[in-house]
Amino acid sequence: MAIEIPATRIVRRETGAAKRLYADLCVLGSGISGISAALEAAELGRRVVLVDSGPQLGGQSTGAIIGTFCGLYANGPNPRLVTHGIADALLRDLKASGDAFDKVSARNTVIVMYRVTALQRWIEEAVRRAGISVVLGANLTNVRHDGRRLTAVELATRYGTLELEATGFVDASGDAALAWNAGLACRETEVPVYGTIMCTLEGADHDALNALGLQAIHKRLEETAEHYGLVRHDGFVFAPPPGAQQGGDEVLVNMTHIETPMDAIGMSRTLLNGRAQVDRLLGFLRAEFPKVFAAARVRAYGLPGIRQTRSIVGAYQLTLDDVRSEKRFADTIARCSWPVEFHDRPEGVYWEQFGDSHMHYVPLRSLVHADADNLVATGRCIDADPLALSSVRVMGPCIAMGAAAAHALDLAGSGSAHQIDVGALQNRLKANLEN
Ligand SMILES: Cc1cc2nc3c(=O)[nH]c(=O)nc-3n(C[C@H](O)[C@H](O)[C@H](O)COP(=O)(O)OP(=O)(O)OC[C@H]3O[C@@H](n4cnc5c(N)ncnc54)[C@H](O)[C@@H]3O)c2cc1C
Repeated sequence: MAIEIPATRIVRRETGAAKRLYADLCVLGSGISGISAALEAAELGRRVVLVDSGPQLGGQSTGAIIGTFCGLYANGPNPRLVTHGIADALLRDLKASGDAFDKVSARNTVIVMYRVTALQRWIEEAVRRAGISVVLGANLTNVRHDGRRLTAVELATRYGTLELEATGFVDASGDAALAWNAGLACRETEVPVYGTIMCTLEGADHDALNALGLQAIHKRLEETAEHYGLVRHDGFVFAPPPGAQQGGDEVLVNMTHIETPMDAIGMSRTLLNGRAQVDRLLGFLRAEFPKVFAAARVRAYGLPGIRQTRSIVGAYQLTLDDVRSEKRFADTIARCSWPVEFHDRPEGVYWEQFGDSHMHYVPLRSLVHADADNLVATGRCIDADPLALSSVRVMGPCIAMGAAAAHALDLAGSGSAHQIDVGALQNRLKANLEN
């Protein structure tokens, strides 16, 4: 039987009119810091629009297969959780379903491994339940401002253009995209900071991997990297602990280094070359450690993992000295004790590890753009020198900074984030600052 389904003939009209949206808070970037900011603001009853150029939420925490929360715990033999907020619910839920587990880290602390698909769904459900409006696949094309206030962003999507007016703006883009497109001052490191294409492997022998140890892999990498065309000589291969219910047959690999230039052609090349690097790495692992990797295959390749690119010029730049000296600021809003982890060389990483009682802090002024009243950055585009940022950009402090950004703009209302009652802010963030 023939079925006739009519289709209307249409022609694009040159109306030029963009679809308009209004919000109390516009969050640009749905990585873990933007998710934290959006959920905290929604909890405060604010109308939130969360924008991302990617096709789904989560930024690098999901798309780049980061796979491990670092910087949530203090150091030492029995480290305590130092960041709460969304971290509490997230850890509770993922651990309850067997999708996250603590791992004692060689870095003198506890890290939390998670299954990426579970975090993806946790984020999606949390955002959906919070009633946050989401705009995915939306690239920022322009930022409008009136003096020191940002007023609206213009977005290009495959379905047409959007204009979003808001009272406050969180730059959680990792690249300071809001500040940059508003024509505000930004910073870029003068040397490349290497990123990584992560991957997960299936079919590796976990017992043999545990018996082998990472040092043996690093040693062999140093001796043979050139032969296999490999760039990096260190990194990690993490297996979930024995008995882990989920992801128990998977290992997480972070052993490549890629350049992450701020241009579309360069980044596209990086994706292709980086994934070829992953394949060569697997060739090396199979050939050199057949007992562990003979049957291993790539289960998933991450999107390019970008560590550090462009940041805002804040009212204060956090420095390596501040980190080393554990400087506590009058406007402290986040803390962590994760090491300095600077990926400044193709072959390796500069690590500076801290003692059991060490804690360093992030001031609100490093999040607030020096030349704007309602623009607060969070995550990897806050103002910190490259070595200081290499510590505070891990996901624990990213969650804490996201919360701080949301509360700072909530307190600022239609006023300035430079002039809020810092005591009131710290009172709201007490769990992330005390004990
Ligand atoms: C390879 C690698 C391994 C790491 N390992 C760990 C680890 O084990 N544990 C840990 O805690 N941390 C780790 N980190 C650090 C940590 O993952 C990141 O620093 C953190 O996830 C950054 O979160 P974010 O929210 O600041 O930004 P991102 O996750 O980068 O999110 C930024 C979002 O903004 C969007 N965006 C950017 N520009 C625009 C634009 N112009 N328009 C619209 N949207 C835009 C992007 O699409 C993206 O979704 C690692 C980082 C890398 C790169």
